[in-house]
Amino acid sequence: MDFDLIIIGAGPGGYVAAERSAELGLKTAVVEKGQLGGTCLNRGCMPTKALLHAAKQLSHMRSAGALGLIADGVDYDFNAVQRCKNVAVDQLREGIAQGFKLKKVTHLVGTAQITAPNTVSVDGEAITAANILIATGSAPVRPPIPGLDLPGVVTSDELLSPEGRDFRQLVIIGGGVIGMEFAAIYRALGRAVTVIEAAPRLLPAMDREISQSLAMLLKKQGIEIALNARVERIVDAEDGLAVIYTDKKGEECCAEADGVLAAVGRRAYFDGLFADGLCPETAHGALVCSQHFETSIKGIFAVGDVIAGSVQLAHAASAQGISVVHRLAGRPITTNLNYVPSCVYVDPEIASVGMTEAQAKAAGIPVLVGKTPTLANGKSLIEHCERGFIKLVFRAEDEVLIGAQLMCARATDLIAAPALAIVNGLTRRQFLQVILPHPTFSESLTKAAEEVRAK
Ligand code: NAD
Repeated sequence: MDFDLIIIGAGPGGYVAAERSAELGLKTAVVEKGQLGGTCLNRGCMPTKALLHAAKQLSHMRSAGALGLIADGVDYDFNAVQRCKNVAVDQLREGIAQGFKLKKVTHLVGTAQITAPNTVSVDGEAITAANILIATGSAPVRPPIPGLDLPGVVTSDELLSPEGRDFRQLVIIGGGVIGMEFAAIYRALGRAVTVIEAAPRLLPAMDREISQSLAMLLKKQGIEIALNARVERIVDAEDGLAVIYTDKKGEECCAEADGVLAAVGRRAYFDGLFADGLCPETAHGALVCSQHFETSIKGIFAVGDVIAGSVQLAHAASAQGISVVHRLAGRPITTNLNYVPSCVYVDPEIASVGMTEAQAKAAGIPVLVGKTPTLANGKSLIEHCERGFIKLVFRAEDEVLIGAQLMCARATDLIAAPALAIVNGLTRRQFLQVILPHPTFSESLTKAAEEVRAK
C-alpha cells in the first residue's frame, strides 16, 4: 500500500483529520481538487465572518453617537471590504499548507475517484491505502423554482467569492442560518433586504423564543420578512428581478430585487466520486455510515456534510474526522460527539447546545428552565448591546444541565461554559459553584442558573 490513509477533501473534516492522522504516525495523503480549506474557509464560515465583522463594525460606528462619540461620514468601500476578507482567507489557507508540510501530510492536487475499496485514482493515476476517508462536504441546494437560473440569482458560493457581489435590493429565499447571516451583512451595508421563509418561523431548528426575538429585531432594522411563504417563480422585471411568492394567507405577492440569494440548505456532495460498480448505501442523497463513520463499503469512512444525518457544521466534521483517525490508529476517542454547539453570527449572536425546552418536552423529560434577560447585565448596558437572553434547561429529576440557548453579545463564545457542563453532566449546583468575573457578559449565565422555574 502507498499510504495508511487517503483522505478525499481538504475542508475542516479532511484537513484536521489529515494532520491528526500524520501526528499519530499514519502515512497520510490528502487529495483536493480545489483550494485547501473547503467550503468553511473558501466559501463558508470564514469569509462570512469576515464580512459580518466589517458589517458589525460599520453598524457600531454609525451608532457611536449614543456613546458620545462623533463619527460623521462613516462609509465603506465594498471592494476594500472584499480584499480584507480575502487576505484573512489566504492567510488561513497558507496555514493549512504549512501544517501539511510540517506534519508530513502528502498533499495531492487533483480529482479523486474511488475505483476499488483500497484504490483511489487521482486524475487517472492510482494510489492505494489501507483505509479511505471521504470528506467531500456539501454544495448549495438549487430548488426547482422557475427562474432560478436567471442572472442575479446566486447562492452563498457567489456572494463569498473573492470579488463578492453587491446588490441594492436583496431577496433571500430561506430564513435559515445562511439566510440570516447574509440578511445581517447586507442590511448593515444599507441594502434593502427581504427574507422569504417556507416555515412558520426563522431559524426553524432553533429555540422558538430565539426565532421570535430575531424576527422582531430584523423587522426593527427594516428587513422585510415573509413567513409561511412559498416562492412560486422568479421573473425578469423592469429594474432587475421580481420574486413571486404566495404569502401565509395564500395571496400572491411580489418582492423586487436586483439580487436573489437561494439559501435553502446544502446537499451532500460526492458527485462522480465512486467508479461504476461501487455503490455505497445512501439515504436522501447522502452517505449512510455506521456509528464509527464507516460507509457500507469496508475500509471506506466518511465524515462531515457528506454523511446522512449530519448537522453540517465545520466543527462537527473536524471532531468526526479526529475520531475516525484515532480509531484507525488504535487510540482512544477523546471527544463526545453527541453535543455539537450551533452558532449564528448575527447581532446579537445566537448559540445553542443540547436540548431546547420543546425538545425535552417532546422527549417526555420534565425540566426546570432558568432564563435571564441580558438587558440588566452591566456590561451589556454599558456597551449598548441589543436586548437578548440566556436560557438554561435542567433535567427536573436531578438538575443536570441538558441544554442552553443564548441570544446575546458574545453568545458564540459564552456557549463554551454550558457545553462543558452538559458534556460532563454537571448539575445546577455545580454550575453555580463557579465565581464568574464582574463585570462580564458571562455573569448572566449564573443569573440564569439561579432563576429556574419548573416547566
Ligand atoms: P438551513 O437548513 O439552515 O435553512 C434553510 C431554510 O430554507 C430553512 O429554514 C427552510 O425552511 C427554508 N426553505 C427551504 N426551501 C424553501 C423554499 N423553497 N422557500 C423558502 N424557504 C425555504 O440551510 P442554509 O441556511 O442554507 O445552511 C446550510 C447549512 O450550512 C446548514 O446546515 C447550516 O447549519 C450550515 N451553516 C452554518 C453556519 C454557522 O454555523 N454559523 C453558517 C452557514 C451555514
